[in-house]
Amino acid sequence: MKSIVLASNNKGKIREFAQLLEPLGLEVKPLSDFPEIGDIVEDGETFLDNALIKARTVSAKTGLVAVADDSGLEVDHLNGAPGVYSARFAGDGHDDHANNEKLLRELTGVPDEKRTARYRCVMAAVAPNGQEIHTQGSYEGRIAHDYKGKGGFGYDVIFIDPELGKHVAEISAEEKHSRSHRGKAIRRMLEIWPDFWAKSGQ
Ligand code: IMP
Repeated sequence: MKSIVLASNNKGKIREFAQLLEPLGLEVKPLSDFPEIGDIVEDGETFLDNALIKARTVSAKTGLVAVADDSGLEVDHLNGAPGVYSARFAGDGHDDHANNEKLLRELTGVPDEKRTARYRCVMAAVAPNGQEIHTQGSYEGRIAHDYKGKGGFGYDVIFIDPELGKHVAEISAEEKHSRSHRGKAIRRMLEIWPDFWAKSGQ
């Protein structure tokens, strides 16, 4: 069976990808199978920059096709912040609660109609022979005034899906996947995957 590497150690993302690519006869290896790669500095200015930095680095170091994604939250009232800084909005480290508190504080007194926001995800696949593809997906919503739900991660407890009238942390993983930025980016990548794979030299 041919292998590809997912440039992530997020178990949820790896499982999702492995299930989706299984019918194509591909084994999805996690980044943790290649400890020699070490930390990859994500210092790009856009989601696409960061996804390509990760996928290019991992493909070059493993000689395999590498897939990476980068995602975040854009809040209109904050001119698109936190964007690529979503994971460390409240400072270095990865503290979802501190990030949520900071966002709610910055939107204090801002009315519902001005709390529009979207999650965005860019996904890139890079082959050792230089073939590259990328896709993106977005998920439109609104920042709530308070917390609700226990599912998801990150900003999901304060991100409202207006069509459902629910915080994303209140919906099931399956429902989120069918509507989310990441789900859309993955499905778009699967549509163009056969052509990319044929040209990848693998
Ligand atoms: P990464 O692409 O896994 O590095 O995610 C970047 C950051 O964006 C996460 O740490 C979260 O703060 C935020 N984020 C991205 N996607 C989601 C999501 O689906 N729900 C909640 N937060 C998200």
